[in-house]
Amino acid sequence: MAMSGYWWECSCGNQTKSVHGKGGQIPTFIRRSIIESGFDQKLLVQPCPKCKVHAPMRITYHFPRNVRETVQVLHIVGLDGGDGGYVPMLWETMPKSSPSKRWFHFNYMIKQSPWGLNKAAVLSLEDIRRLLELYGTKTGRSLPFSFARAVGK
Ligand SMILES: [Zn+2]
Repeated sequence: MAMSGYWWECSCGNQTKSVHGKGGQIPTFIRRSIIESGFDQKLLVQPCPKCKVHAPMRITYHFPRNVRETVQVLHIVGLDGGDGGYVPMLWETMPKSSPSKRWFHFNYMIKQSPWGLNKAAVLSLEDIRRLLELYGTKTGRSLPFSFARAVGK
């Protein structure tokens, strides 16, 4: 099972493997830009060098299901302890086969390793509550279902 397959992709079809700015590979980019910026959501879209004005490029990867899905990252928030170590995260993605759907992944990163990006984070209710709260703060949207209430929101 490949765990290194992340790239930037635009809806025009343009793909790239390299990442501008800090880092070069997506996991490094997530640590050094997304996490270290305090989860600046603007960094999750990059201008497409082909169609410039139109759709932005987003982090894209294959997600294993019964039928492998390709998903694009819309939002990432996480609980950064500030020590460069363990950061449990909530990723919101969009399956390319059904772009109106939204999926939510609880995963994690330790240092700059991509290992935890395909693993499930194990979270306390308090951590889930903090992640949902941070999601609301960083995206300006709250998750509209009773799960948030169930964990104390
Ligand atoms: Zn494009």
